[in-house]
Amino acid sequence: MTSEIGINPAQLDSDPVLLRDAFFQLGARSLLGLKGAREWGGVQLPREVFFQFQETVARYSGALAFLQTQHQSAVSKLASCPNQDLKERFLADATQGKTGLGVGFSQLRRSGSPLVKAIPVEGGYQVSGEVPWVTGYGCFQFFILGAVLPDQHVIFGLLPFSDRRQDSGGSLTVSQPMELAAMRSTNTVKVHLDNWFMADSEVLDLKPADWIHQSDRHNALNHSFFALGCARAGLDVVHRATDQADTSTSIGATWDALDQQLTHCREAIYQAQYQVGIKEPEEGLGDRLRFRAEAIDLAVRCAHAAVVVSRGAANALSHPAQRIYREALAFSVFGQTTAVMDATLAQIIKSSR
Ligand SMILES: Cc1cc2nc3c(=O)[nH]c(=O)nc-3n(C[C@H](O)[C@H](O)[C@H](O)COP(=O)(O)OP(=O)(O)OC[C@H]3O[C@@H](n4cnc5c(N)ncnc54)[C@H](O)[C@@H]3O)c2cc1C
Repeated sequence: MTSEIGINPAQLDSDPVLLRDAFFQLGARSLLGLKGAREWGGVQLPREVFFQFQETVARYSGALAFLQTQHQSAVSKLASCPNQDLKERFLADATQGKTGLGVGFSQLRRSGSPLVKAIPVEGGYQVSGEVPWVTGYGCFQFFILGAVLPDQHVIFGLLPFSDRRQDSGGSLTVSQPMELAAMRSTNTVKVHLDNWFMADSEVLDLKPADWIHQSDRHNALNHSFFALGCARAGLDVVHRATDQADTSTSIGATWDALDQQLTHCREAIYQAQYQVGIKEPEEGLGDRLRFRAEAIDLAVRCAHAAVVVSRGAANALSHPAQRIYREALAFSVFGQTTAVMDATLAQIIKSSR
């Protein structure tokens, strides 16, 4: 990846412009439509190859891994929606990264009153509320919003990803990028919608109220591949430390032990992921959650080992070990559900026994 992208991961972590360049470079290499259908210029990679790609990018740069995955999720969602006109307008350019697409629907996981509501009106929907997380401001031109209808169905639509005022009085306001500890360059923002008119022509599709919970159960392992890549990045730092002349003998032994655990966890994840789609969604869910928690635990421990072997230098913000550790913390909570939180906490208790 280093020779392909040619931008230092530390710069990708801190500079949104360089991160955007790296994103375009992936597009130029046809790597941004990996989940998109071939008829729109996508590659339609087998799932397991796509996950290997996710791991490889996360090993190189957490920021790039996260930014591009938001876009690939949006492309996949657009490609599978029934709105043919929207696909014709956006998909070909999106698969090449010429049009960047973000997503804003993790708020659907939250219980209680919906954060973003849509009311049917003539010709479309009036949307109001706050989208708490949308990554890729300044890089993506549009994002896919998930909002809740009065009958609890979820509606998905394509919205512009910049401040707008409508003649009808509707508004879309993007916050300042959040001051994040990790992956700040991804420009993650909140989007506030006030009586925003979303035309029928901008609607992707309509899903049942529990769509995100079903999707979370089906995709329980998807975020594990970030954690696996991050753990490997931590081990790369540990490995480099074994080459130093004054190295402690325990560094090599630590690498061997963690490498073995990571290899074992990775194999279990790929095997479990292979079963998804063959078996019923609930079957093996407990194991999948446990493996995801193990991958998160390994990412944190491998990153911590990278910090320890890097000694005082690891305190520098731009040091690889420091960045990887912060990425491990971010990957611990991306796409978190109550079940994932429970599995992660159970793993923490197990590891500390
Ligand atoms: C840097 C960053 C960028 C992100 N970018 C995007 C993006 O581009 N698009 C997007 O859609 N999302 C994005 N997310 C959201 C991300 O996937 C969320 O981290 C994840 O959905 C958890 O959401 P939350 O932190 O808002 O927690 P919440 O939504 O508040 O909680 C997560 C889950 O835990 C449950 N829960 C909450 N409190 C408790 C409790 N006390 N006990 C048990 N269960 C509880 C909730 O019901 C929910 O199911 C981003 C997150 C981060 C950190």
